[in-house]
Amino acid sequence: MKARSPGSRPAQGAAEVRPVTGQPPGSHLCPARHCRARVPADKLMCPVHWAKVPRPMREAVWSTWRNGGGGTRAHAAAVRAAIAAVTRQEKTR
Ligand SMILES: [Zn+2]
Repeated sequence: MKARSPGSRPAQGAAEVRPVTGQPPGSHLCPARHCRARVPADKLMCPVHWAKVPRPMREAVWSTWRNGGGGTRAHAAAVRAAIAAVTRQEKTR
């Protein structure tokens, strides 16, 4: 049984894989406008912006995630709605 961890190919002078210290692999930037927060792969946005998403939308994101995971149309729509809600609040302040 060979244990090959994903992404362990030799990086020889390739600047494409940049180790981010203290960040789990697969993390991404918060999708809210102007937010530079790093978010773990299993979360949609940083805690600050997630808190701005109206509760029904948060529940829609979670329930569509559980029921088929990311990549489903329902989940993508729920995610888009949540991001749009945050973006709207950012604009109106
Ligand atoms: Zn954010």
